[in-house]
Amino acid sequence: MNSFSFNGAGEIIFGRGTVSRLPELARRYGKGPVLVTLDPFFSGSDLKSRLNKDLKSAGLSPVFFDRIEPEPSPRSAETGARLARKKGCTLVVGIGGGSALDTAKGLAILAGNPGKVSDYVGLDRVPGPGLPTILVPTTAGTGSEVTFTAVFTNRQTKSKGGINSRFLYPAVALLDPELTLSLPPAVTAQTGMDALTHAMEAYTSNKANPLSDLVALKAVALIGAALKRAVQKGTDIEARENMLLGSLLAGLALANAGVTAVHAMAYPLGALFNVPHGLANAVLLPYVLEFNRSSCPERFARMGALLSRSAAASTLEQGAKQCIRKVIRLSRAIGIPEKLSDLKIPKKAIPQMAPAALKIARPIENNPRPITEEDIAALYRQMY
Ligand code: NAD
Repeated sequence: MNSFSFNGAGEIIFGRGTVSRLPELARRYGKGPVLVTLDPFFSGSDLKSRLNKDLKSAGLSPVFFDRIEPEPSPRSAETGARLARKKGCTLVVGIGGGSALDTAKGLAILAGNPGKVSDYVGLDRVPGPGLPTILVPTTAGTGSEVTFTAVFTNRQTKSKGGINSRFLYPAVALLDPELTLSLPPAVTAQTGMDALTHAMEAYTSNKANPLSDLVALKAVALIGAALKRAVQKGTDIEARENMLLGSLLAGLALANAGVTAVHAMAYPLGALFNVPHGLANAVLLPYVLEFNRSSCPERFARMGALLSRSAAASTLEQGAKQCIRKVIRLSRAIGIPEKLSDLKIPKKAIPQMAPAALKIARPIENNPRPITEEDIAALYRQMY
C-alpha cells in the first residue's frame, strides 16, 4: 500500500439547526471585528439579521461582505481582503455556495499575506496562514468547506485556476442542512451532480487511498439515493440532509484523492462560456466515465452497485457499464442537458478548449487512463 495522509477541516459539525452555534464558535476563533462573507442570496434574510444580533451578543462586531460574484473573479477576494484589513478583522466566516466559500478562503489568505490572488494560484504557493475561517455551505455541491482549494475565474485571460494550500483548510466546517432547503431545483440538480462527480472522480483517481475510498463510496450511495428526491421536493429535509452529508464526504474525497479529467475539461467551459461549474461537470461526467471505464472496471462496478438498487450484474464489465447507465438515468431524471450544443458551446471552440483542458495538470495526471489532447478533443466532439 502507498503511504498517504488525510486532511479536512480542523473540526466538522453537522446537523439540523447547528448554524445557531456560529456565534459561540466565532468567539472561540475571533475577537472584535469578524468578517462575514455572505452569499448575496442571504443579503436580506432573517439569517443575516439573526447572525448580526447573535454575533454582537457574543461580544463580536460583524462586518458583512456580500459583493460576491458567481464563479468569483480574484477581485471578489481582493476587495474583501482590503475590507478585512481596514476593519482589523480577526476571523472570516463564509456562508453560501462554493462561490462565497472560495471568496472567504481567498480573502482570509490575502488578509494575512502580502500580494494578490494571482501570486498564489497553483500548489503550495501561499507562504503562511491567513485569518482563521469558519465555513458554512448552503449548496450541497462543492465540498469547499473541507478542501484546500479556492477557485477563481480570471475574466480577462478567460482562465480558471485555484489557490491550493494547506493554509486554506478552515478551523471549522459547520453544516446545517436546513440552510439548503431554499435551493431551487436546477441549482440543487447541478450542485448535486458536482458532488457526485467529486466522489466518482476521487474513487477512480490515481491518487485514491483507503480513507478517500471510504468517504467517496459513502458519498456515491448517499447522493444516488437522495439527489432526485431533493430536486423533486426541495422541502424534504431528509433528502437535503443526505445530500449535504454526501457533498461533505465527496469534498473530503476530493481534497485527499484529487479529481480527474472531468474537472480538467469543465474548466474551459466555465472560463470561456460562463457555464456554472456543477452544470459543466454534470454534462461531461458520463462521457469521461465511459472513456475511463476499462481502466478500473471493478471500481466502476462497485460505484454502480451503490448508486441505485438493481439486479446484480453478472460480470465486472456489465457492472461497470451499468454504473454509467445509472449516471445517465439520474442526470436525465433531474433535467441535466446531455450535449455541449445544449449549453450553446460552438463546435469551433474545441481546438481552443482541448489544449486549455490539458493544462489543468493535476486532474490530468490523476486520470486513471492516460489522456491526450486528441482524446480530449474527441470527447468534446462526441458531445454534439
Ligand atoms: P454558487 O456558489 O455560485 O451558487 C449558485 C447559486 O445559488 C448562486 O446564485 C447563489 O446565490 C445561490 N444559492 C446559494 N445557496 C443558496 C440557498 N441555500 N438557497 C438559494 N440559493 C442559493 O454555486 P456552487 O456550485 O456552490 O459553487 C460554484 C463555485 O465553487 C465555482 O466557482 C467552482 O469553481 C467552485 N468550486 C470550488 C471547490 C473547492 O474545493 N473550493 C470545489 C468545487 C467547485
